[in-house]
Amino acid sequence: MLSQYADLCAAHEDALVLFQVGDFYEAFCEAAETVARVCEVTLTERTDSTGEYPMAGIPIDNAAPYLEALLDAGYRVALGDQVEDAEQASGLVDRAVTEVITPGTVVDDDLLESGAANYVAAVARGATEKRGTDPPDPAVGLAAVDVATGECLVTAGDPETVVEELERLAPAELLVGPDAGDVVPTVRDWTVHRHDPDVFARRTALDRLDPYVPAPERRFDGEAELRAAGAVLAYAEYTQGDDGPLEYVSRVRRYDPRDHLRLDAAAQGSLELFENRGLGASDTLFDVLDVTSCALGRRCLERWLRRPLVDADAIRSRHDAVAELADRTLVREGIADALATAYDLERLVGRVSRGRADARDLRSLHATLAVVPELKATLAEPPPDATDDPGASEDSLPRTDHLRDLHERLDEIAAVRELIDDAIAADPPQEITEGGVIRDGFDADLDELRATEREGREWVADLEQHERDRTGIDSLSVGHNQVHGYYIEVTDANLGRVPDDYRRRQTLKNSERYYTPELKEREETIVGAAERADALEYELFVDVRERVAEATERIQALADALAELDALASLAGVAVANDYVRPTVVTEPDAGIRIEGGRHPVVERTEDAFVPNDADLPRGSVAVITGPNMSGKSTYMRQVALTVVLAQTGSFVPAQAARLPVLSRVFTRVGASDDIAGGQSTFMREMSELTGILHDAGPDSLVLLDEVGRGTATTDGRAIARAAAEFVHDELGATTLFATHYHGLTDLAADRERVFNLHFSATREDGDVTFLHRVVRGASSSSYGVEVAELAGVPRPVVERSRELVAADEDSPTPNGSEPVLDDADGGTPHDVPLREFLAEDDDEGGPGAPSADDRTTPSADDRTTPPADLPPDVAETLRDLDLARTTPIEALNALHDLQNRLDDDE
Ligand code: ADP
Ligand code: MG
Repeated sequence: MLSQYADLCAAHEDALVLFQVGDFYEAFCEAAETVARVCEVTLTERTDSTGEYPMAGIPIDNAAPYLEALLDAGYRVALGDQVEDAEQASGLVDRAVTEVITPGTVVDDDLLESGAANYVAAVARGATEKRGTDPPDPAVGLAAVDVATGECLVTAGDPETVVEELERLAPAELLVGPDAGDVVPTVRDWTVHRHDPDVFARRTALDRLDPYVPAPERRFDGEAELRAAGAVLAYAEYTQGDDGPLEYVSRVRRYDPRDHLRLDAAAQGSLELFENRGLGASDTLFDVLDVTSCALGRRCLERWLRRPLVDADAIRSRHDAVAELADRTLVREGIADALATAYDLERLVGRVSRGRADARDLRSLHATLAVVPELKATLAEPPPDATDDPGASEDSLPRTDHLRDLHERLDEIAAVRELIDDAIAADPPQEITEGGVIRDGFDADLDELRATEREGREWVADLEQHERDRTGIDSLSVGHNQVHGYYIEVTDANLGRVPDDYRRRQTLKNSERYYTPELKEREETIVGAAERADALEYELFVDVRERVAEATERIQALADALAELDALASLAGVAVANDYVRPTVVTEPDAGIRIEGGRHPVVERTEDAFVPNDADLPRGSVAVITGPNMSGKSTYMRQVALTVVLAQTGSFVPAQAARLPVLSRVFTRVGASDDIAGGQSTFMREMSELTGILHDAGPDSLVLLDEVGRGTATTDGRAIARAAAEFVHDELGATTLFATHYHGLTDLAADRERVFNLHFSATREDGDVTFLHRVVRGASSSSYGVEVAELAGVPRPVVERSRELVAADEDSPTPNGSEPVLDDADGGTPHDVPLREFLAEDDDEGGPGAPSADDRTTPSADDRTTPPADLPPDVAETLRDLDLARTTPIEALNALHDLQNRLDDDE
């Protein structure tokens, strides 16, 4: 057994092999130690003729948590299952690796963290050898497979674009081709493998792609894509036990990142398009948008949302279609009803074209094709306001070009539909080799064989009565069993009346079984005809399947049309249900974002009284947003970005009115401490993400900065926040929303042309602090921490004392003990003055507005230990350490209470 194990290990060097032994998966030797450690199971021993070996096992019927632990620890796990019935095996049971489970290729729902796409990706470079004098192909190819949905994406671009696409895909695993090592940055979450370099070779890749893509050389743009695609499919096949082409990879799609609104992974994550980072895991934009009727439409909508458009005409065209469907309720509902009965045409045609479809698949295909005429009719239904002219319905077409085009693309493929209907039985069995799949009347030979079989059976069916009459034995019966075939059974009491031509077949307790030469002959005819019929049926079936496969491209095109129709109907349904409005898409290069009465599409669903807010953001402006915790800053910023994303996806938007430019990129950065779910999120990460924005954002970008700089010490964070805001404004010209608890940032508005302030405030109602969630122009009062405490009903003396403390703190030059950050050479330009003052400002929410310049001095190191004169040092320290931005009113109240007690103690 151990040598068998060793063989499997050798064949799967980069994986940990688990070996089925009865009800357990066992690992031996070194692997056993790993399993014992990672899975926290007992390390035992196995003894055989060759010695004693460490062994550790996990129960097969509860393997998921253990496998998950191994995946989490970075292992790939090869499952060596028994592929032979243990009872029938002579000697050692044969085992083979049936599946390699890796982080990027798990399909088991138990192991997948969520319904989100789980990609395994590969990157490769194009030609490396010089062709003549040409420099080597600089493009990097990227291919990714979502093993759960069968989506395979292929693209290429310069290394930076590819890395951004990788971030968007966030693959669980990444294979790096030879020569592409430099493309992949080192500090990432991705598990990077250098899989067998052979799979990246051009020839191997071409062969690999062949079953998936017709004419791969023509489909792909250059060698880089080809190699990446070949490699990723090779890996996906490997993880499924190397059983040849994968059935579930139904479609290989190429795309160009430049044709889409670019949302990097951070934006996609913090906007919660597909995944909610908080507790309500299903509250995502996609969940709001998805009322599709079939899997095709659902995947299409997901693709659209992942890659919104950047072409104004294409966007308007989708809006046209959504508008028409929103308007025409009956048409929309008709589409939804029809598509609800559609099967997953993409997967079906994938199976058909690879010769894996069974008769039921063909029937499903038929049922889906049968929906098409109905859909066409629905779409062509005259609008209710049309005249009652009876001829009108025939010629009537959708009003918008987009839907007219879709109407045209609804290819009935009648020949295929009829072929399947003629050939395949209405409710065929799963097996295609055991008959019953081909309809009567489809093939004359088959009909004849079936007739022969039927006649034989009828003869047998009549035999019982016939023999009873002939022998006079009323209890005589005719039966059939697997081993002996047909027999005539006579009870012992009647044995005397058995005729001469009966031959004994079997003796039972109280009866004898016989056959006659004629019965035997009939039986042979029946069995022979049945066998030949089964074989013929299989042949006929394969032939039908091949004829259907010839229509693969047409069926795929139809699948696309159905998918789009479903996605559009979904967008329209959502627009109606949620009261969205069609946005006006403007293409003037300096057009800004104007939203009236905008809402957050996800939050509004759970918030009883969502407060709509306007947004008027001229192109290149920077809105600095302040306000207490929980007042609605983050929600507001995200709703602006989501509105942009929705509009460019082709959707209507949650607002009363919206005029929107076409943007090319959306960036979001959420300060590390605000990023609740990013457990391992660090300040380093925050800063490297910020770096990305500062490099890449431009006038066509929307940038959301949410509490940036929060992940580090106040002084540094403040400096970084301000410097970033200045840079975004001065250098990038990106339209920016910047929520910050660094109140001092609000004076940027005074000396930067396109910077303005917005704030959220709170009021008190019936003794409770109430957030209005309404955005207003201007900066908020700087001491809202204390204000909130007051609103919350903190006793007046405490509030007043806090104001004093805040003011005292404000007066001390460097209560945070910050080191001088600026040297003199930096102080030259007028713009740097606010920065200097800003840095000198003390606790964030502390100061009563902008400090006057004259009582400011350059911070000195000595100040760090000097508390304000009348404050006990420990109180001063506690106060300083209090991060008001992260303090709830109740916590503030407790803290103040505590401080007051300590002051009382000191007196
Ligand atoms: P901040 O970023 O200022 O701390 P958030 O944007 O996270 O505040 O909002 C806090 C909570 O307030 C949200 O979870 C939501 O429930 C509620 N909220 C935010 N904006 C609105 C709004 N416009 N109308 C109603 N409730 C809102
Ligand atoms: Mg916030």
